[in-house]
Amino acid sequence: MSVAENLFLVKQRIAAAARRVGRDPAEVRLVAVSKTVPVERLREAVAAGHRLFGENYLQEALPKIAALGGEVSWHFVGALQTRKAKGVVGVFDLIHSVDRPKLARALEKAAAQRGLIQKILIQVNLAGEATKSGVAPEEAEALLREIAQLPHLKVVGLMTMPPWFDEPERVRPYFRALRELRDHLQKLGLTDGPLPELSMGMTGDFEAAVEEGATLVRIGTAVFGPRPDACFRA
Ligand SMILES: *Cc1c(COP(=O)(O)O)cnc(C)c1O
Repeated sequence: MSVAENLFLVKQRIAAAARRVGRDPAEVRLVAVSKTVPVERLREAVAAGHRLFGENYLQEALPKIAALGGEVSWHFVGALQTRKAKGVVGVFDLIHSVDRPKLARALEKAAAQRGLIQKILIQVNLAGEATKSGVAPEEAEALLREIAQLPHLKVVGLMTMPPWFDEPERVRPYFRALRELRDHLQKLGLTDGPLPELSMGMTGDFEAAVEEGATLVRIGTAVFGPRPDACFRA
């Protein structure tokens, strides 16, 4: 199937999941995760009207961004090394993977130098998996308090990569937990604005994520087809 057809079908499934729980489908944005995908396939998505891509690696993303230019919006969804902070600030409209004070401070410094406000999400590791990035849920409040002091970072919500199950229903409790954590943090009023964004749901489980409140679903395989490195879960 073509990228255009895949996009059409995924967007239909997102809209149907939203309507099942009485949500407006327009509240949910599809981040087409394009790691390892050649730029020609991204062009097909752009030609089909898609304008939002997620990348995991700065080195891989930069040539794609240069090729497609400001036509589209880019999100950084991968694990981020502190020394790469300077490279991502201002290049990506949203960084999904901020999970530690040191990284936040590096992003703050880079954003201050460039004179801009960088939007970010706090990545939460809900199941405490050693192989995954993300702040522990019980430490999320402390991290948010720290970041709220940094004038060039704007936290707009939370992101999670839950444990992998072949049944989406088994992932649902994690999606719900992220929403509840967001509701809790939002009530504390630590940030200037609300925390509207919930980045959760991938190819295997995005409908459950939408039903639980996702506003950003990060979908690679269902849009672009299987990756050559499909067993590698970044
Ligand atoms: C690769 C990746 C995705 C997309 O995964 P699919 O299962 O191919 O949809 C989503 N989020 C992150 C952080 C990823 O690295």
